[in-house]
Amino acid sequence: MSLKGKVAIVTGGTRGIGRAIALELARNGADVAFSYAKNVEKAKEVEGEIKKLGVKALAMQSDVANFNQSKEMVNNAIKELGRIDLLVNNAGITRDKILMMMSEEDWKAVIDTNLSGVFNCSKAAVVPMMKQRSGSIINITSVSGLVGMAGQTNYSSSKAGIIGFTKALAKEVARRGVRVNAVAPGFIETEMVQALDQKYIDEMLKLIPLGRVGKAEEVARVVAFLASDDASYITGHVINVDGGMVM
Ligand code: NDP
Repeated sequence: MSLKGKVAIVTGGTRGIGRAIALELARNGADVAFSYAKNVEKAKEVEGEIKKLGVKALAMQSDVANFNQSKEMVNNAIKELGRIDLLVNNAGITRDKILMMMSEEDWKAVIDTNLSGVFNCSKAAVVPMMKQRSGSIINITSVSGLVGMAGQTNYSSSKAGIIGFTKALAKEVARRGVRVNAVAPGFIETEMVQALDQKYIDEMLKLIPLGRVGKAEEVARVVAFLASDDASYITGHVINVDGGMVM
């Protein structure tokens, strides 16, 4: 499996799953541009880590929830790295609360970042991909979007929306050589999960047949496979990486 000569954009590449994906794509030979929200120091660190793997790296501070910034971010990556072959829509946030306590702002922040972010970046990237008649878009959804999780009406809605978006876009662009897939992680060891209550984590572990939390690298390897030509006949699919949590 080689991504040599390909250029990737990963949104939210400074931490957790996004960082692991950026590094895995680089390890397989892709030049990698990645975006982030605030953490400039962390972005420099990841940029250095990618370059050490012998490929080009480009960190871009850009809010996926902002349509114009996303367009600029994609255009900038194309200008600096020459083309775009892979887009991984990974950036995401949570604002967990039961609906009764959820503000309109909690709802909008999650929908704007997680779902509109996928629209904003895909819209900018899909045109050059269609023109070159090749490309792969991989959207990071969640098991929460498949089964719904209490306390996550905003997050589950955004992640279910990503699944619909993935299938609809896959059908639109397949004949132009562009594949669109989604990966649904379960419970993965990142800052997002570390912020959760230990009692909640223990309850979740009981629901995972493999009996453990997953690693960001285990998600990243599936993304790299979907990005590669080894997955050339796979489009419109959602692959769960969840230790068997949802089957
Ligand atoms: P983290 O919170 O660890 O990292 C989030 C990343 O997204 C950071 O790089 C952050 O940048 C960036 N980011 C946040 N908001 C924006 C924005 N508006 N514009 C651009 N970048 C942004 O998240 P995880 O690694 O845990 O999650 C990654 C993805 O995987 C998300 O889509 C999440 O929903 C999904 N997922 C995670 C699971 C888990 O168990 N962890 C389970 C299922 C799905 P900065 O560092 O600058 O803040």
